[in-house]
Amino acid sequence: MEDRIIDFLRKNPGNIVLTSHFNPDGDAIGSTLGFAHYLQGQGFNVNVIFPNEPSIPLRNSLGYSSSFVHIDQHERNKTKTIISQANTLFALDYNVSSRVGKEMSALIDNFSGTRILIDHHESPDHSFDYMYSLTSKSSTSEMIFDIIEKDGGAVDIACADNLLMGLITDTGSFKFPITSSRTHEVAGKLLNFGAQPSIIHERLYDNNSKSRILIWGLALSNILITEDSSVAILSISNSDLNELNCQPGDTEGLVNQGLGIKGVKMSVLIREDSVGSLKMSFRSKGDVNVNDYSRHYWQGGGHKNAAGGVSELTIHEAIEKVKSTSKEVIIDDQNI
Ligand code: 5GP
Ligand code: MN
Repeated sequence: MEDRIIDFLRKNPGNIVLTSHFNPDGDAIGSTLGFAHYLQGQGFNVNVIFPNEPSIPLRNSLGYSSSFVHIDQHERNKTKTIISQANTLFALDYNVSSRVGKEMSALIDNFSGTRILIDHHESPDHSFDYMYSLTSKSSTSEMIFDIIEKDGGAVDIACADNLLMGLITDTGSFKFPITSSRTHEVAGKLLNFGAQPSIIHERLYDNNSKSRILIWGLALSNILITEDSSVAILSISNSDLNELNCQPGDTEGLVNQGLGIKGVKMSVLIREDSVGSLKMSFRSKGDVNVNDYSRHYWQGGGHKNAAGGVSELTIHEAIEKVKSTSKEVIIDDQNI
C-alpha cells in the first residue's frame, strides 16, 4: 500500500486536502505538515485542515503558519469550500471520522472524491478507498516516511522536522514499547535530512506557559492511588482550569506522571472541560489494555497503552467508576 498512494496521486493529480483529528497532537500536526511539505515539493496542490488549534508549542511547528494551513473552527466557510473543491482527501492519524469532531465529520463522511486513510490506531473505518493502517507503527509520521521513502523524492527540512516531531511525541521520546528498530532507523534518516532533535525538544518542552506548571502542581498534589496501588487517578475541575487560566495543551503529558509511581499499572486523568463533559485519558504498562477498557467504559479508544475517552458524569462519579471498573483490566504481570 505504501507504494500505491503517491502513484495514485500522480495518476489523479488535482486538489489534495490533508486532515487530522480534533485537538491535534504532535503526531497529527507532524504527519500532516510533513506530508504536506513533501507533496508540495513534488508539485502537488495541497491544503491542510485541522479541526481546531493545537497546543501553543505545536503552533510553532515548521509551516504551521503557511497559507495552506486552515483551522476549521476559525474558517468554516473556507474549509467547506476547500473540501468541496478537492479531488483527494487524506485522513491522517485518526481511525474514524468522529475523531475530527462533530462539525467536520460530516464533511469527511460525505466527501465525493477519493478518501485515503493513513493511521496507526485500532479498528479503522473500512469505508476509505485506500487504507494504510498498521497498529504496529509508532506513529503516523513513521508511516508517512515509509510512503515518502518508497517514492524517493527530496525531503526538505520542514518535512523532516515535522516527521521527527511526530516520532518523538508519539513514542515519548523513543521510550514507549511501540518504538521499534524501524522507528530509530527512520529517526536517523530524518536527522540526515536536517531535522534536529534538540531543537524539536526545546520547542516542544521548554516553551510552556506558567499555567501548565500550576495545573500540574495542583493535579499531582491531589493524586489518588487505589488501595491495591495499581491505579493512579488525577483529576482537574473546570473551575481549576479557569482559575489558573489554562491554555490548550497545558495538561498534555500529565497522565504519564501517574505511571511513574511504583506498582501503578494504569494512570487515569479526568479533565472537566465543562460541567457534564469530561475528557478521560488512560496510560498503562505492559499488557494492561486501556484501548479495550476505554472502548468498553468510556466511549473511546486509542492504543493498548495510551487511550482516551469521554464521559458525562461528574468528576466524583467518574472517580468511583474508575475505582469499580479498573480491576477488570489490571492483570497480574510480574514484569510490570
Ligand atoms: P490522549 O489521552 O492523549 O488524548 O489520547 C491518547 C490516545 O487515545 C491517542 O492515540 C488518541 O488518538 C486516542 N484517543 C483520545 N481520545 C479518544 C477518544 O475520545 N476516542 C478514541 N477512539 N480515541 C481517543
Ligand atoms: Mn499518532
